[in-house]
Amino acid sequence: MERLTVIYGGMMVPRKACTFDREGGADDCKECTEICEDEGGVCRTCILQECLTRLGEYEDTGLEPDEVMELKERDTAKEPTKVSDSEVRYTDDYICPNCGKHFIGTGIAEFCYHCGQRLKWEEL
Ligand SMILES: [Zn+2]
Repeated sequence: MERLTVIYGGMMVPRKACTFDREGGADDCKECTEICEDEGGVCRTCILQECLTRLGEYEDTGLEPDEVMELKERDTAKEPTKVSDSEVRYTDDYICPNCGKHFIGTGIAEFCYHCGQRLKWEEL
């Protein structure tokens, strides 16, 4: 998803109102009144309205940004650690990369049974 905002002068501002330097950092940001594209003043095509609409969609989730980041992290597939001195016979014992709890079986679970961390398995 393309970001609507960028940091300029320590504030989040509408990305489309900015110009960028060679390193990709915002080096200028126009005033709201300079960039409003809606002649009729209905605000439908204004980039600020676009940002507010997107923000509203995030707020509809009822989640704080750190909660969204936590969910994103949990949904990013991570490789479990194989326990080399497993006492379980005929199958392998693994440790979840997130919660550190054990589970058995190679490539069976898509998610950790304990915490819900998405698991990444090498090609089997
Ligand atoms: Zn886990």
